[in-house]
Amino acid sequence: MADLETAEERVGYLIELGDTLAPFDDAAKTEVNRVLGCQSMVWLTSSNFHEQLVFSATSDAPMVKGLVAILVGAFSYKSPQQIIDFPILELFDDLQLKTFVSPLRSNGLFSMVQKVISIAQATQAVEHPSGEIQTNDFVRPVPTKSIAACRSDFPILSRVLPNGKPLIYLDNAATSQRPASVMKAMDEAYEQHFSNVHRSGHALAAETTTAMEESRQSIADFINAASKDEIVFTSGTTASINLVARAWGDAFLQAGDEILLTEMEHHSNIVPWQQLASRTGAVIRWVPITDDFHLDLVAFENALGPRTKIVAITAVSNVLGTINPIRKITDLAHHVGAVVLVDAAQAIPHGDVNVQAMDADFLVFSGHKMLGPTGIGVLYGNRKLLELMPAFLGGGNMIQSVTTEGFTQAGIPHRFEAGTAAIVESIGLKPAVDYLLALGPEAILQQERLLCDRAMHGISAMPGVRTFGPGLNDKTGVLTFVVDGVDSQQVAHLLDNQGIAIRVGHHCAMPLHHRLGLGASCRASFYFYNTIEEVDHFISAMHSIVRSKA
Ligand code: PLP
Repeated sequence: MADLETAEERVGYLIELGDTLAPFDDAAKTEVNRVLGCQSMVWLTSSNFHEQLVFSATSDAPMVKGLVAILVGAFSYKSPQQIIDFPILELFDDLQLKTFVSPLRSNGLFSMVQKVISIAQATQAVEHPSGEIQTNDFVRPVPTKSIAACRSDFPILSRVLPNGKPLIYLDNAATSQRPASVMKAMDEAYEQHFSNVHRSGHALAAETTTAMEESRQSIADFINAASKDEIVFTSGTTASINLVARAWGDAFLQAGDEILLTEMEHHSNIVPWQQLASRTGAVIRWVPITDDFHLDLVAFENALGPRTKIVAITAVSNVLGTINPIRKITDLAHHVGAVVLVDAAQAIPHGDVNVQAMDADFLVFSGHKMLGPTGIGVLYGNRKLLELMPAFLGGGNMIQSVTTEGFTQAGIPHRFEAGTAAIVESIGLKPAVDYLLALGPEAILQQERLLCDRAMHGISAMPGVRTFGPGLNDKTGVLTFVVDGVDSQQVAHLLDNQGIAIRVGHHCAMPLHHRLGLGASCRASFYFYNTIEEVDHFISAMHSIVRSKA
């Protein structure tokens, strides 16, 4: 088509191409088969032929029929994996589609591509049930550091508070503390190398750019992303979810589509979807939790349907500590062609996140909860999805070229990193990753559970104390509780007087608190650097609080 000189000639050719499509069965022009997000009506079905997929499609608009013919030709008679890997964007570039297909039609075209990929993913999930998909041979480095030797790496943990009490920091789910290595790396970046990145060619710029890109690579390796291009730096979990809701959601959702959320989500994984729903007319459906603080998987499966476009779910609840069965969730969601966003804000501190094993489409987290700096976070996105998404914020760094007429976008991940990045913060993520790897995820979680179990047994027998969360094997080191008859704010205040820092309030999870019949609760969250002695201080301070109410 690139040989054709004018836009008119190309449109004419597309219309002719549309006429070559095999006839489409009128009975298959159903809502389920309709490709949403297209300006005109487009229907698409698939069938299996010797483990390959064959597509049949049509449109009521002659030019769109031509585009449909290109897609059907490109994707048919391929295995699901070949479809997922097919460089469709290169084909669009070769055909110079951008030169004569309007932006609205382009969005429709991407919606068709997305439907095809969803079908391929769903077919693959059925062919390879949970756990069977071979990812790469992902092996974490052998741990080199023992938990017992880590406490002195965190200068703040030896702090004495103004009232003379030594700090006992049990607010790790809100934010972790940082080891000296993270602060040293950041100081060094400012003192020795600092420059802007991806712009100038001088020595400092090269050093800083290299350090930032090495950090991106270490994050990609840490979560087993296929490439560092799939790692977008953002300011944190909240920003990452908003980015997906804007860039992916605005392009691919429309009225009547469904967004599936769970009752245990943090507000950051609720409000951006509510905003998206009010912009597009999409509908939010809620999956409840069970009385034993797990996700209700039966309700989850029942809530999935052909209109489910995205499932946004936390890997670990920030209130209950519940670890959700993400791989099972992605399998079920992909089966209906939905995309899954995993909120890993509370999972990443334990170091055991593997995006390929989870089969996550998007996964988001913050640096500050995993020993890293504030103001930096990550959006992992499957390459295919990121490439289909338009930029959200415009400005420097995210463009390929700008003219007075318009702009073209940079490739991924820079397309989503408009403006000057949190450069030194991104560099500080690498030593945080290195630290977590040196300890190893098993040791981290084991220590947290040991501490949490001791605290839980220590306080749950006290009169009036109620705790919330599943059994220890299904959770992280988060202990949420209330003391009947004592206001949670007061409990936190009394603990603070003893130097013990916990979180109080709704923990940005008001729907969950509503479900639990609570206005507020107390949360003690343990991390690997906490000690048995600290837990015992906590238990004895709780004894005093409970005794004083009697
Ligand atoms: N999601 C969960 C599960 C969280 O626990 C948090 C923070 O507490 C967030 C999202 C928001 O993270 P941030 O404030 O770093 O954007």
